[in-house]
Amino acid sequence: SIVVTGATGQLGRLVIDALLTAVPAASVAAVVRNEEKAADLAERGVELRIADYSRPETLAEAFRAGDRVLLISGSEVGQRVAQHAAVIDAAKAAGVAQLAYTGVLGGDEADFDLAAEHKETERLILASGLPHTFLRNGWYTENYTANLAPVLAHGAVVANAGEGRIASAARADYAAAAAAVLTGPAEEHLGRAYELSGDTAWSLAEYAAEVAAQSGREIAYSNVPAETHLEILTGAGVPRVFAEILVDVDRAVEHGALARQTGDLARLIGRPTTPIAVTIKEALASA
Ligand code: NDP
Repeated sequence: SIVVTGATGQLGRLVIDALLTAVPAASVAAVVRNEEKAADLAERGVELRIADYSRPETLAEAFRAGDRVLLISGSEVGQRVAQHAAVIDAAKAAGVAQLAYTGVLGGDEADFDLAAEHKETERLILASGLPHTFLRNGWYTENYTANLAPVLAHGAVVANAGEGRIASAARADYAAAAAAVLTGPAEEHLGRAYELSGDTAWSLAEYAAEVAAQSGREIAYSNVPAETHLEILTGAGVPRVFAEILVDVDRAVEHGALARQTGDLARLIGRPTTPIAVTIKEALASA
């Protein structure tokens, strides 16, 4: 089977959608921790395998020999190395044919805090000897457009990213790439690390200008010192640990860590990546 973990998440659902356009539902399995949340997937004919990254014993039945597996990185920052290690161990014990992993753009060279768990996971996968494919995902455009409400309310995009550029793409683009490496000839993708990012890199000033143009409002880009940004975020109720991560990401953006462009994403999906104007339009329509 083609097996997708994190299948009830935003990226996972899009991967399942992409897979179901390419292969029969009977050959697709979803590893989920919440069966109820996956009821719609079961209705579409996808096999459910219930397991939690944090409970290794539940992972024993998650994989079978010969499966092609996508490990979608977990969302519980700080716990992910142990969680991913448990998934890798289970995949190894089952004898899967391919383990694809959603890491971070730049791989070993990504030097910001959020990258650490991804780099360690890649090391564990290499050490396991499993046939693997690294999908090093750049930023989702939706990381920004999911946050349009405060931008429209305050007429400002607030960040500490300077004029740094971001080669983001839509989640659906990354999902299509994952589906491509799981359904195409495995030999083409084994042992490879794809650096996935959007065809166009943009700055937050350009992002603010595009939101302004589409919404008809005045939206400024307010670039502030990291300390100030941290205060604004925590003042708005963002938990301090998470606010620190956001500020660190902006620092990474400023020095270009999320601007890397190799063309790997467009090549894998066989079409250009989704322009930010399109994702902004969708977000404004549903705001
Ligand atoms: P989501 O938070 O929507 O999805 C995360 C998925 O992981 C969910 O299905 C969740 O299950 C599952 N999961 C989390 N913890 C466990 C666990 N202990 N056991 C089993 N499953 C678990 O994130 P996205 O889909 O948007 O993104 C996918 C991943 O990409 C994120 O988890 C994160 O690692 C990374 N990411 C990348 C970004 C980028 O810009 N490249 C931005 C943000 C995150 P459940 O549905 O039950 O909650």
